[in-house]
Amino acid sequence: MLGIPQNELASRHFDPVYPLGLGVCSVRPIEMARAFAIFANGGKEVTPMAIRSVEDKNGNLYLNPEKDIRLAQQKKGNNIQVITPQTAFIMDKLLERTVESGTLEYGADFDSTVFTIGKRKGVGSKFKFTNSNGKSFIMPSAGKTGTTQNWADAWTVGFTPYYTAAFWFGFDKPGQSLGLSITGSTLAGVAWGDFMHVANNGLAYKNFPKPAQGVVMATVCSVSGQILTPECGNHKVDAYYLAGTEPTSVCERHRNTTGSTIGIIRIQNEQQRSGYSFDNVVDTSPVKLDLDFLKSDKTSSETNSGTTSDTGSGNTNSPGSPDENTEGNWLLE
Ligand SMILES: [Zn+2]
Repeated sequence: MLGIPQNELASRHFDPVYPLGLGVCSVRPIEMARAFAIFANGGKEVTPMAIRSVEDKNGNLYLNPEKDIRLAQQKKGNNIQVITPQTAFIMDKLLERTVESGTLEYGADFDSTVFTIGKRKGVGSKFKFTNSNGKSFIMPSAGKTGTTQNWADAWTVGFTPYYTAAFWFGFDKPGQSLGLSITGSTLAGVAWGDFMHVANNGLAYKNFPKPAQGVVMATVCSVSGQILTPECGNHKVDAYYLAGTEPTSVCERHRNTTGSTIGIIRIQNEQQRSGYSFDNVVDTSPVKLDLDFLKSDKTSSETNSGTTSDTGSGNTNSPGSPDENTEGNWLLE
């Protein structure tokens, strides 16, 4: 889908391992744009082109790369379908969620950008257009943001039924950071939304191609992903599935679950989302007791005064020892 030639895969560390899906190798923006355009194009191959044709001042055609690409695609026949239309449609629907209520919600909203301060337009406003009859509509849009380790790269790749655009912000040299609050969502997402608004403005409403068969829509519990029960309450969502992969069992999370258990699960989930760690660090080193003070009253008072004035000795195993504090400061720097 990315269009990376077979003989480049090894040198670019594009190994067929599971972490590949998390982004363990480097790809170019044009490759990401091509891959996402295939989702929007019903699963059919898309070949980006920079030059459509070359002609002189008299209109004599010298080069026609667009025609060449179309002819090459024609020759491929059915092989041009690189993923099934059903899989492409499911991806469209999944990635639409990012714009509706995910990390692209910010970038798709005019209120998030500086140049519209004072002109509040609301959620998803960059994709709200008016057709020639004066009727307003929302152009379907989908995409994904991405931020790499140490905030080094900020990505957004997304599409409408008309255009796909990839935005990347980062440095040529590795090891530099864009800064803590600069993410795919807050930087690349906003630029992507601004560009897509301009690119799609004036175009007629169009939706992603929905296959006539092979996909089913089901209303499921948004927590468990299983068949909705009355106990699921507001946890209700419409989702598309490849036919035969829709859930077949009813929600076990909310059925037969007491209120207190639901509450505990919810609190645990919130803590995980906020980055709270459940790992308890247990100090297994032997406990040392200094019982010298029991020997005599005189020794005791000397030891006490010594401890007060010299915190650097006799306490090296305590949590607040000078060594540990030094290490903590170093880490913060
Ligand atoms: Zn449920």
